[in-house]
Amino acid sequence: MQLSPIGYYSDFVVYPLLIAALAASGLAEAGLSGAAWWIVTCGSFVALWTLIEYWLHRAVLHHVPLIRDLHHDHHVNETASRGTPSWLSLSAHGLLVFLPIWLVTNFGMASAVSSGLMIGYLWYVCIHHILHHWHPPHAGYVYRLKQRHALHHHIDGDGNFGVTTGLWDRLFGTATPKQAARRSETRGPPL
Ligand SMILES: [Zn+2]
Ligand SMILES: [Zn+2]
Repeated sequence: MQLSPIGYYSDFVVYPLLIAALAASGLAEAGLSGAAWWIVTCGSFVALWTLIEYWLHRAVLHHVPLIRDLHHDHHVNETASRGTPSWLSLSAHGLLVFLPIWLVTNFGMASAVSSGLMIGYLWYVCIHHILHHWHPPHAGYVYRLKQRHALHHHIDGDGNFGVTTGLWDRLFGTATPKQAARRSETRGPPL
């Protein structure tokens, strides 16, 4: 949805602060003996986020009524300050992930899982912003992501759903073929 400049950039401030506070308290509770377990759990959920990101984009942003329309606006006006408000994404993290896991297990597990998913989400928000607003050097990792995402926006809306990685598109058969990339190159720069 359309956000004010403060609303758009608040993720970049709120999430790092919250992740730092959650990680510090989770690691403090885990102690020296549990620190390695905490870090491995957190890292595993950073990786799991990339799969969640893929399916949210593919199944929710492109198919759920109303959300689909809001996402279509982003496809058309890609540099506009559109996105998910911090209060909404944080509520989802808190109510769907952190609280249930804390109630069922303990604070250490809840903080590790939530920190991992929030790091993954923050990484996604940062990369997505960079892809639409920066001009990364050609032939680099970020430029390849930018090309993939530009194909999703302009050539094939049914492919390249992964923003931070193309892994899941390759595994689930939704990677846009390279021929489409070459066709787009003949029409000019991707973004
Ligand atoms: Zn899309
Ligand atoms: Zn985009």
